[in-house]
Amino acid sequence: MRIRAAVLHSPGTPVVVEDVELEPPRAREVLVRVAAAGVCHSDVHLADGSLGPGRWPIVLGHEGAGVVEAVGGEVAHVGRGDHVAFCFVPACGSCPACRAGRSNLCEPAGACSVAGTLLDGSSRLSLPDGTVLQHALMTACFAEHVVVDAAAVVPLPGDLPLWQAALLGCGVVTGIGAVRNAARVRIGETVCVIGCGGVGLQVVAGARLAGAARIVAVDRDVVNLELALRRGATHTVDARLGDVAAVVRGLTAGGVDHAFEVVGRAETIRLAWDVLRPGATAIVVGLAPQGVEVALPAIEFLSEKGIKGCYYGSANVAAELPHLVELVADGRLELADVVSHVTPLEGVEEALGRLRRGEGARTVLVVDASLAGAPARG
Ligand SMILES: [Zn+2]
Ligand SMILES: [Zn+2]
Repeated sequence: MRIRAAVLHSPGTPVVVEDVELEPPRAREVLVRVAAAGVCHSDVHLADGSLGPGRWPIVLGHEGAGVVEAVGGEVAHVGRGDHVAFCFVPACGSCPACRAGRSNLCEPAGACSVAGTLLDGSSRLSLPDGTVLQHALMTACFAEHVVVDAAAVVPLPGDLPLWQAALLGCGVVTGIGAVRNAARVRIGETVCVIGCGGVGLQVVAGARLAGAARIVAVDRDVVNLELALRRGATHTVDARLGDVAAVVRGLTAGGVDHAFEVVGRAETIRLAWDVLRPGATAIVVGLAPQGVEVALPAIEFLSEKGIKGCYYGSANVAAELPHLVELVADGRLELADVVSHVTPLEGVEEALGRLRRGEGARTVLVVDASLAGAPARG
């Protein structure tokens, strides 16, 4: 079928919404009509070529939601008409990582993600001239339709608005999973969140749900800091002013129990280390461009400080996403408040530009207004 999709032809050139060919789903795949998609910093990294060579031409987008239109013969957990959110690590279920319960680190899915294919190692996308297109993170949902692996769709209740559900599969799972699975924040602990964009704001919400006593939000955008306060941050620190590490340590009696870096830069990873109290751990959620290295004062390992990576919330997405949906349904987790911009698919390049400039929190691309249920706003 011919669809409209946001194509990156090569890094440094604008993303173009144009006609592409989409093949039908194979036996273990699903065709989804996309309702809405969130624009994430990983899309910027792909668009800028900062995740390494060979990753284009590509259809971008890995956070989204839609309605199933067709399923392959071996797909049983969803059917035509079901609402679904995308999971961008469709775990194989049988590799060493999957068998160890770490499905976010699924080895075949990781390899296919870098190659820009689905799990069988091939693409369903091409340009009208036959040029094969890669799928961004096995999803490619800045498009009217996607074909994805069966494990890449997680069923949703029919009453959750899809323009909000679009955020679940990356920002929400990643942010709340970092608190729940990587840090395991406990009641009364102190937390610092460095970078309060679309994912960092979910870390703040997760810390509040976990019962953190002090939640210090750090960002250089005052609008993001205000949003963080509304989501449960107890203190905010403007990252443009003064010695941020000293200010955070001063607010938290010498340092926090958990620092979350949600930017992906060497300076902010170092900042996450510098705000820790002895014995505490920094969790790096932000995705850094290839080649970035971080220096740490090694003598401070004496104080048993730790630093740890976190990919995709260290989560079993298929199992955990339904819990998050229940929190939304109960009014305990707000989704819409992190959405700073709502635009049609054609607004993708502007949305990437805002992320590059650090403006706003999340843009939601409304791909199909009749399905997405989004309010009309800029
Ligand atoms: Zn993302
Ligand atoms: Zn696996």
